[in-house]
Order: sequence, then structure tokens, then C-alpha cells
Amino acid sequence: MERSSSTERFQPMTSVGSGVGIEMAPDLYCFTVQIVNVVFYGIAGEGNDWVLIDAGMAKSASMIKAEAEKRFGEGNPPKAIILTHAHFDHIGALIDLLEDWGPVPVYAHSNELPYLTGKKNYPKPDTSVEGGMVAKMSFLFPNESIDIGENAHPLSDDHTVPFMPDWKWIHTPGHSDGHISLFRNEDHAMIVGDAFVTVKQDELYKVFTQEKEINGPPRYFTPDWETAEQSVGILEALRPAIAITGHGVPVEGEWLKENLTKLAAEFKTIAVPDYGKFVDE
Ligand SMILES: [Zn+2]
Ligand SMILES: [Zn+2]
Repeated sequence: MERSSSTERFQPMTSVGSGVGIEMAPDLYCFTVQIVNVVFYGIAGEGNDWVLIDAGMAKSASMIKAEAEKRFGEGNPPKAIILTHAHFDHIGALIDLLEDWGPVPVYAHSNELPYLTGKKNYPKPDTSVEGGMVAKMSFLFPNESIDIGENAHPLSDDHTVPFMPDWKWIHTPGHSDGHISLFRNEDHAMIVGDAFVTVKQDELYKVFTQEKEINGPPRYFTPDWETAEQSVGILEALRPAIAITGHGVPVEGEWLKENLTKLAAEFKTIAVPDYGKFVDE
């Protein structure tokens, strides 16, 4: 397995929520690692089966592992790791975790696999995009792929999710080619990665305080705004009751309904930057 040359680059960001976990359903636990969320799927209990969704920031493996041990017991790695996409802040701890846990299968959309097998890099972050301090310092964020070799597997075309029987994956591109969200029809719970977020991710202060505010995908890393808008429309049409986003606090009920409807209706004003290399092209 190979890290990208810059995966270990200094990433000087954290939030008041780092290390905090919130249970959104008995089997759905959102855990914040610095500025990004990972999800533990599975009922808490020693030896219970579980799945990890997304893999946080670089150097956060010990934090993720310690929290997982509290919830599922020691020596009990997840059955699988599912990735919403492979940006640096969603795969940061992946190689360390795999080295520790052994050959846990990692699943992602087939369009995302080149970024997990060292074949393709993401576009460089857009530091010129309209937005706050985080956009301006996004040159610090690695865009290079990692290589987890044979651990990487494509999600099945039938939209089933390994080890998550009641869930379906939904293709929600725009922020990245192979971005997916997960949806459970039973309680309309949704794990949306960066398809939309609940914090203004380009503003340093708001990231730090995690002030709740609906927004589109992080600006400095989103190359296709038209597709990103369509993806928000797809998610809104499913009427989620619970949403765990990649950034910001997880949300539910009336707040989610109202704000997601607003985001879908006013996507161009709320989410799409006024200028930047991905909108000017
Ligand atoms: Zn992302
Ligand atoms: Zn992200």
C-alpha cells in the first residue's frame, strides 16, 4: 500500500466537535474527526458486526480505532469500509487502519477506484474560488491518490451495500465523479458525504465552531456544479429524515426538510461560487 507523497502534509484544522460522537439511530453513530465525520454502522456491543463509512483525516487512525473499540470491543475490525468518495479528508486514516485491521474490504463507486489505486489524481484544489479562509488555504490539501491495491473493490451495480442489508447506494456525482450517498428506506436515514454539508466549509471560523448551516459541497474541491446540483435534487426527492454529512453536525426532522428544500431550490445562490476556476471554465 502506498500513501501519496503529500498525504501526511500538515493540515492545521480542527473543530470544537472533534472527538465528539452522536447517535442518530441505534445503529448509526456519527463521529467527528477534526473537521470531518466518519460513521459507525452497527448496534453497539462487544463483538457485534459493524461497518465504517469514510476514514477521516491523516493521523486519526488511533482516534477512530479507540472509538470503535469503545463501541464494538477490542479485536473486532469492521466487516467493510465504505467510502462516499476518496478525497484526502475521507481516506486520511485508511492505510493506517488497514495496516492495523488487516485485509478489510474497502468499497467505493467504480469511478472513484482510480483515486484509491494510484491511477489518477483529483484536480488541484481551487484556492481562487469565491469563499473564506479555508478555500484560500486549500493549497495545503492533498489531491493525490493513494494506493490500497487489492483492498479496493467496486460497489455492485445492483446498488446493494455490502454488510448493510437495508441500505442502497445512490450515485451523487459533482463533487467527485464517483461520489455516492447511502440511503435506508425504512427510516429515511441518509449518509451523504460531501453531496451537501451542514457547515460553511470554506470559512475557518464556522468550521471551527461547526455553526449549523446548510450548504453545497466544499467549493475548493468541486469541479462540476451542474451535476452537483442534480445530485442534491436526487437526495431531496428521497425526503430524508436523518442526514449525516461529511462536514458539519448531523441533522434531522423539520430542520433538514426545510433547509434541504431551500438548498435544492436556491442551489445556484447558496452553493455555486460566483467565481473560481471550476465555474469560469
Ligand atoms: Zn470531498
Ligand atoms: Zn470532505
